[in-house]
Amino acid sequence: QAKSSGKDKTVFFNAGIGGQLSRKMELEKDLRLALEHRQFFIVYQPKWDAKLGREAGFEALLRWQHPDKGIVSPGEFIPIAEETGLIVPMTRWMLGEVCRLNRRWHDEGLFRVCVSVNMSYRVFESMTLLDMVEDALRSSGLEGAMLELEITESIAMKNMAITLSQLQRVRDLGVKVSMDDFGTGHSSLGRLDEIPVDTLKIDQSFVKSSDRVSKQALIVGIIGIARLLDLEVVAEGVETVEQAEFLLSRGCVLMQGYYYGRPMLPEEVEAGAWKLAAVTNQAASAD
Ligand code: C2E
Ligand code: MG
Ligand code: MG
Ligand code: MG
Repeated sequence: QAKSSGKDKTVFFNAGIGGQLSRKMELEKDLRLALEHRQFFIVYQPKWDAKLGREAGFEALLRWQHPDKGIVSPGEFIPIAEETGLIVPMTRWMLGEVCRLNRRWHDEGLFRVCVSVNMSYRVFESMTLLDMVEDALRSSGLEGAMLELEITESIAMKNMAITLSQLQRVRDLGVKVSMDDFGTGHSSLGRLDEIPVDTLKIDQSFVKSSDRVSKQALIVGIIGIARLLDLEVVAEGVETVEQAEFLLSRGCVLMQGYYYGRPMLPEEVEAGAWKLAAVTNQAASAD
């Protein structure tokens, strides 16, 4: 009995590992064709100014519509894209699309805000960032200040010489830089003043537990650092009125999260229904 159940376990274990490997290998193979087969699309999540009651910007987030696996989450395919280097052409495409759409929003008088794109270390390592940003701005005619790049502490710390020189060059074009997931990466606190950034984004894990005093202390600390270094601060992952109220009471007015708006297709962003909800939620948190 014991022997046969042991054998079953071995078979199950092998199948599990095999199954995972083959999904990853399949995704890796399919990812190579995804760009030319137009399987990517971009959703936009609002950053809301809770003081002025209007949108302060949008974050562009990549989505992959796989032909038979449905929507694959970026949490799954971005690491594969990074490992294979496919993230470089994907980011080039993304920058082009985002700048083109934002230019149209400006021209149509819909929004006059900055749209951000997430960066991977591989993009810096490839030394092509300046070229892709220049291309995207030139072909769209968008002004540099209306584009923002989101980096993380680990990107900045991995090879400071490589990242800082490229960040400096794109900033010379007016492009903004924000530090994503701030507080979770390799701590760069000691060198934060050397990294050219305009904004700190408080990681959603802090916001999620902002009912806990320890996390409140961290949030207040980040807001304080931002103020001292003259940086903007955005809270990520704001889902409830309590979180919004706490952040507002501590002087963080820029909010991003499901409470204000989910990542949406351009048509949904333009239709503006989310704005009504954001304003209503805004009023609720001001009470
Ligand atoms: P991120 O840059 O920190 O993006 C924020 C993530 O939090 C997004 O997940 C967003 O949908 C989610 N989010 C926003 N508000 C809330 C909320 O209120 N509650 C909760 N629970 N989640 C919220 P998403 O779109 O799945 O992206 C995950 C990560 O994948 C991103 O984290 C980013 O690191 C990466 N990523 C997405 N698109 C790209 C891209 O184009 N290039 C690169 N390099 N990375 C990307
Ligand atoms: Mg981000
Ligand atoms: Mg983030
Ligand atoms: Mg995150």
